[in-house]
Amino acid sequence: MQDEAHYRLPRTVVPSRYDLTLEPDLEAGTFEGSQVVTVSVEEPVDEIVLNADDLELGGGSLEGPGGTLAVTEIRLDAENERAHLRLSGTAEPGEWRLSLDFRGTLSGRLEGFYRSTFKDDDGRTHVIATTQFESTDARKAFPCWDEPDLKAVFGIALVAPEGMLAISNGPEIEREDLGDGRVRRRFADTMIMSTYLVAFVVGPLEATEPVDVDGVPLRIVHRPGKQDLAAFPLDVGAFSLRFFADYYGIAYPDRKMDMVGLPDFAQGAMENLGAVTYRESLLLIDPEKATQPELANVADVVAHELAHMWFGDLVTMRWWNGIWLNEAFATLMELLAVDAYRPDWERWSSFLRSRAVAFEVDALESTRSIEYPVRSPDDAAGMFDILTYTKGAAVLRMLEQYLGAERFRDGIRRYLDEHRFGNTETHDLWDAIEKATGEPVRRIMDGWIWQGGYPLVSARLEGDSLTLSQRRYLTSGEEDDTVWDVPLLIRTAEGTAPALIEPDGLTLEVPAEGPVVVNAGVHAFVRVDYDDELLGRLTADLTSLSTDERTQLVDDTWAAVVSGRRSAVDFCRFAESFRGETELPVWQALLQGIAWCERFLSDGPREHYRSWVRGLLWPAMERIGWEPREGERDLDKPLRGALMTGLGVLGADPQAFGMAMEIERESRGDGQVDPSLVAASVGIVAAGGTPEDFERYLDAIRTARTPQEELRYLYSLPDFRDAMLLDRTVGMTLTDEIRSQNVPGVLARSMANRDNGARAWAFVKEHWDEIVSQVAPTTLVYVADGVRFLTERDQVRDAAAFFEAHPIAQSTLQLRQILERQRVNEALRTRATPELMGAFGAGPELS
Ligand SMILES: [Zn+2]
Repeated sequence: MQDEAHYRLPRTVVPSRYDLTLEPDLEAGTFEGSQVVTVSVEEPVDEIVLNADDLELGGGSLEGPGGTLAVTEIRLDAENERAHLRLSGTAEPGEWRLSLDFRGTLSGRLEGFYRSTFKDDDGRTHVIATTQFESTDARKAFPCWDEPDLKAVFGIALVAPEGMLAISNGPEIEREDLGDGRVRRRFADTMIMSTYLVAFVVGPLEATEPVDVDGVPLRIVHRPGKQDLAAFPLDVGAFSLRFFADYYGIAYPDRKMDMVGLPDFAQGAMENLGAVTYRESLLLIDPEKATQPELANVADVVAHELAHMWFGDLVTMRWWNGIWLNEAFATLMELLAVDAYRPDWERWSSFLRSRAVAFEVDALESTRSIEYPVRSPDDAAGMFDILTYTKGAAVLRMLEQYLGAERFRDGIRRYLDEHRFGNTETHDLWDAIEKATGEPVRRIMDGWIWQGGYPLVSARLEGDSLTLSQRRYLTSGEEDDTVWDVPLLIRTAEGTAPALIEPDGLTLEVPAEGPVVVNAGVHAFVRVDYDDELLGRLTADLTSLSTDERTQLVDDTWAAVVSGRRSAVDFCRFAESFRGETELPVWQALLQGIAWCERFLSDGPREHYRSWVRGLLWPAMERIGWEPREGERDLDKPLRGALMTGLGVLGADPQAFGMAMEIERESRGDGQVDPSLVAASVGIVAAGGTPEDFERYLDAIRTARTPQEELRYLYSLPDFRDAMLLDRTVGMTLTDEIRSQNVPGVLARSMANRDNGARAWAFVKEHWDEIVSQVAPTTLVYVADGVRFLTERDQVRDAAAFFEAHPIAQSTLQLRQILERQRVNEALRTRATPELMGAFGAGPELS
């Protein structure tokens, strides 16, 4: 163990202001910079220590109360990513100005100051220089005190060729023609903020006309020719800025907002103050050609990033252990904002689908607590996962619903107001909400934040007395005595009321008749196990449950199959009681289990199973119709797509396949075809596709009109069942035919290929070093995620041995979780295969 001094800079010299000039050379792939940092010397020093990584430093002087000191020696400590600047004398306490020159190379790995490229319609390649700093890569672009609590004001200038667009956090306030084809632009000072939020982008890009959002100009920045895809993100961006200013009770903290779509981007998006960067597919979109989930996805990401302008940018975590709260809270706000933007999208219901994955991971032995002690920034790299974003948001939602939305919001306002421009610890938030509400918020939340896992709440009825008890839910079935304070809502015939299940349980009176819904609205992060009497009252009338409650019931039932508490055949029987189901999330939860079962079958029983799937899905499909109807709900469209996919892929339904062929071909023409049907058809055709179809798909990727269309085709390539075609798909990941940002997704999905996933895995093993050198380090673990679908015993051993020899340093725990899920899936396959082969041995009827 190294002590803290290795990760935290000495506080003897702290910055308050950076005046920074940068000039990238797009052709050469390099950059040069100079800066003057105003620092406060707190005690006499003859050396200044700050962060720098992969930079060449030159010159340097320190000017201040005692005159000018020269930097006589610069020592770079590559391991700790630091520069030690030896001074020609002692700097006494006071305010000084440190001048430094530096140069570096634009990175090819989507981090620090990096290169992104695109080809225009004539096939010419263009280069963009752009930044991605979180968590600790600002030091790759300029020497700095690169810790979140060492906030400063940034006065940034960029030098770029005339005709190039250049943007940074603040609005442009001055432009100087340097007379040699270069232009120097100066941007307004930022508010005081952390280094990881600084951004600069230089390239042959265009910006839309600004939209005025209550005095804040909002623009979309995009590559030439994409302006038609900017209307939707402008609309949702304007809505979100207003929504958050109102919710937080604080005006937007910067003077402008540019949202920049980049061809190459490692993660989804980054909340740089006033200059948010995105993957193109998560920003630029055509509402006429996109599906509802694709639109909702863009709305989510835009709302999420804009929520950070206050929560994260204005008030910032003191150290990287606070990343979870930063991300969990932005996710909660994203959901609240999108739910307000389009109530008919029922965003909280669709959240249950991602929450189901968090439930799955958090039921593993290898799960983690949401917060944990973080020493090095690398320790916190593992925080960017589903437990932070989804479980974190889910437990915040649990608290919000228990306290009441307004009381919760009052606590948030209090927190932001008290800490604006400052840095905080997690408990500062609980304390602010506690003060605003008088509830024991810190006690309740500490249990959820500092302990991994979640409870199974058992509900037992005796007479009119309901007893609720808890134990930890583990897929392995191991005993564990972790307990929580569980805040939830209980609904009976008499109404809905909040209840707090303490560690030793809770007993309360309930009416003698009618359904008793424990965890009404399913806001608490728990699974519920009802006794027979209570379950009977619920299933007697499924319509007494809300969409969310039915979705959770399906998810809990499938989880019981995964953990061996119920049989897969039981699940199929249970699914039959949903023939009348009309809601998308419920069907998605059902189809997940149905798809897994399909993987475990072969030969005759598989054919019978497919026939059973058709029998299950046809009534729902006929009810909703094969064509969109006048006046139908927006959510009916993706439901139709999901049912059609179920029929076409899992049910191998010839009619669905024939329609998919027709729709997919038609969609490549000029006519308007319903995007949900198109998206479903692209997947169905791939699953039954020929080499000719494959060629057409490659062409469709090259000529796609929107980022979403491109991704639909790209991510369908791994679904072609033919071994040679799968080989071609994985082979393309090492060529420039597939952008490195999409490589992890394509490889993982290829490993999930039902018939030939093992070939993709063999490819990954053989080319691991090349893959490592090509994809962003934080996304390497997404490649590994594909092994979950390889469920033969020798494959499980093989994956464990491979990753033992090839660890992924930044994602150790996530990798352990993937390997544990693979073992869980292997056990599931071992149990379920004989059960299902027997049940579907004679025909498509379940006896
Ligand atoms: Zn975020």
